Amino acid sequence: MKAEKRTTLVVNSEAVSRAACSGASRPIFGIARPAEGVFQILSDRAEPGVFSRVGRVHPARRPGLSLVALTIADQKLFVEVDGIVSAPDEVLILSGSESISDRRRGLVPEDGLGRFRVDLFGGGSLGGGAGLLLAQGGVGHIRVYDKDRFDTPNLTRHICDMKDLGREKSVALAEKLSLHGVDSIGVTTDVTTLSDQQLDLLLKGSDLLLATMDSPHAQFVVNEAAIRNKIPAVFAGAFELACGGEIVVVRAGSGPCLFCAAGFRTGVLGGVQLAERRQAYQDAEQNKLEAEPGLGADIAYVSAVAAAYALAVLDPNGSRSTLLRNGHAFTLVHGGSQPRDSYADLFRVPFDVINARVVRDEPCPVCGYQSPSEVTS
Ligand SMILES: [Zn+2]
Repeated sequence: MKAEKRTTLVVNSEAVSRAACSGASRPIFGIARPAEGVFQILSDRAEPGVFSRVGRVHPARRPGLSLVALTIADQKLFVEVDGIVSAPDEVLILSGSESISDRRRGLVPEDGLGRFRVDLFGGGSLGGGAGLLLAQGGVGHIRVYDKDRFDTPNLTRHICDMKDLGREKSVALAEKLSLHGVDSIGVTTDVTTLSDQQLDLLLKGSDLLLATMDSPHAQFVVNEAAIRNKIPAVFAGAFELACGGEIVVVRAGSGPCLFCAAGFRTGVLGGVQLAERRQAYQDAEQNKLEAEPGLGADIAYVSAVAAAYALAVLDPNGSRSTLLRNGHAFTLVHGGSQPRDSYADLFRVPFDVINARVVRDEPCPVCGYQSPSEVTS
């Protein structure tokens, strides 16, 4: 005799509460998994390609409908689930965001990071990994900028997957982040083609720029925007073979910028003006490394370091504050492999970290930073 398959109705209590609060019957969204006997009510709004309609919430019992009665936050309501003929054998009511906040207590500000908006430049493996960690940390809003589409080699180390092949990276990644509770949108654009005014308009309201693009030109453009708009920024890049990476933290008005730390890559020195810098950024582009192979384990490490610095900037008095207090704006990290070739000159052991000070004898043409003169006795 074949056992009857049990059915479980999984309910995100906050989504159902929100759907019910209008007082009228409202559709609810999630995923029906009839083969598993699981019906998930996850959201009060559709997420195209992810959540589709699984039923309706009714504020009162309706005769003739097969309804599941639920009490959520002292409110009695009725759920009609498409595809469940009789009542489910079991109803699993999941608590809402409060229980997630409990897990973050002491690690983020008391009122969370939900009010912050991060503008993430580069939806590649490094940016995707860092974006995911910020989403899991509770950052409320993430805007993803990328110009490319998701391609097969990205599968080796990206948080997106086969379902995303051929999609615009910004859109696919924003969707992934939104599944972690973030308000996220993707903007498919090449920032080097935007005017300053266009970029500044996009950045209005941003709390942090996290730039993870492999294009030096694009990274320098974001650096100029960070200084111009007085928005803090974290720049992250991976080394060849993704064996490690570098992080530069920029806080306009206090300390060096990306040009101070890595302007040597543009081949220009001293007091060059904006137009000359723009040309130099393009020249730097020609020396850029082609997309390097690398393992997810290595790139995820750099993503985690970048995310830690981003969290430190958003929560400067929090548990990661010392990352910003040590006076080192330029951090180089090596991953778990043995440093070799030119990296063996820099790093001694796997997981070695180098915190470097940025020294500028002359004021930086972008941010005006100049190293404090040494105190001599
Ligand atoms: Zn500078």
